[in-house]
Amino acid sequence: MSSKILEQFLQTNLSDLKEKGLYNEIDSLESANGPVIQIKGQELINLSSNNYLGLATNPELQAAAIEAIKSWGVGAGAVRTINGTLRLHDELEEKLAAFKGTEAVISYQSGFNCNMAAISAVMDKNDAILSDELNHASIIDGCRLSKAKIIRFNHSDMDDLRQKAKEATESGLYHKVMVITDGVFSMDGDIAKLPEIAEIAETYDLITYVDDAHGSGVLGKGAGTVKHFGLQDKIDFQMGTLSKAIGVVGGYVAGKQQLIDWLKVRSRPFLFSTAVTPADAVAATKAIELMMASTDLNEQLWENGDYLKKGLKELGFDIGKSETPITPCIIGDEKTTQQFSRRLYEEGVYAKSIVFPTVPRGTGRVRNMPTAAHTKEMLDKAIRIYEKIGKEMGVI
Ligand SMILES: *Cc1c(COP(=O)(O)O)cnc(C)c1O
Repeated sequence: MSSKILEQFLQTNLSDLKEKGLYNEIDSLESANGPVIQIKGQELINLSSNNYLGLATNPELQAAAIEAIKSWGVGAGAVRTINGTLRLHDELEEKLAAFKGTEAVISYQSGFNCNMAAISAVMDKNDAILSDELNHASIIDGCRLSKAKIIRFNHSDMDDLRQKAKEATESGLYHKVMVITDGVFSMDGDIAKLPEIAEIAETYDLITYVDDAHGSGVLGKGAGTVKHFGLQDKIDFQMGTLSKAIGVVGGYVAGKQQLIDWLKVRSRPFLFSTAVTPADAVAATKAIELMMASTDLNEQLWENGDYLKKGLKELGFDIGKSETPITPCIIGDEKTTQQFSRRLYEEGVYAKSIVFPTVPRGTGRVRNMPTAAHTKEMLDKAIRIYEKIGKEMGVI
């Protein structure tokens, strides 16, 4: 018999969400997550994936993954520290370190998992973490898990950060103080002010941690936000994901050898959760190789991003202040934003609405993620559909 209390809890809370229109119905794709996708038999231009470089369906990655399965099987067989470290995992980490320009790298099963692992391996209840108020959920959870005091600073507000860094370090309350930020903020596409963050960190001897999930493959010719600013020597933790621009799955921290040595003996998801599969490791390595050999995909991504932005802006849409290919289209009112996204869908564009509480009230937006795999024809078609719905709904 199932628990009555649980049943009641689920019943109450699910109907509450549904009444408020906050229950998210998940759309299943009937195709690969490429530039055009199929849902319920309908073809849609896909402006919602994080597959920035189109590598999720890259034939070279697919071939490498198939080969790996044939030679190495489908699973790693154990956690990394028992005997689940295959030569393939070492090769992935070596390749990543070369790409990021750091001494060493540790890889994890996902980016989320990586933030759970790495923050609490270094920070504890005697420490404090200065965290940008718009940091990703996995950073917030990773910070909480560490039990360190979390001090939020206003988004990209360097005066606020400086003030709070000064207070935290001069208070004598904490052993270590870390500053942690997204490299690229995915809701607006803005870039963290890393040169100033690094300078403040130097002044107050802060540990620096950059989550570059949306910067890797995008900024710094693909090597990320830290490389973009030339700060490889100033940032202690360069965290990244292998699941967005890299197109596969996994996460990693790039940094000094000593840091990586420590994470390999102290991060719990590395010690207690099985390593990524041979196919994942090999496909991710192949992706890094492609990115190191050529910046063509990266350039195509930026060209497509600029093209989409220009098209929407010329129509009179508010595309915010993005500094990356991420292209928000700010509609404002929550209901109108959701309706706008629904109409786009009906006309053949898949672009998700993002509303309060994910973004501030009244700044609801449809977020567009152009990729290197989109053709001009696809983007033109999407822009035409935007125009139609924009006029129909009186947004432009
Ligand atoms: C997506 C994302 C993650 C999680 O990465 P996964 O590899 O998908 O688990 C972590 N941090 C940020 C900023 C992200 O955008």
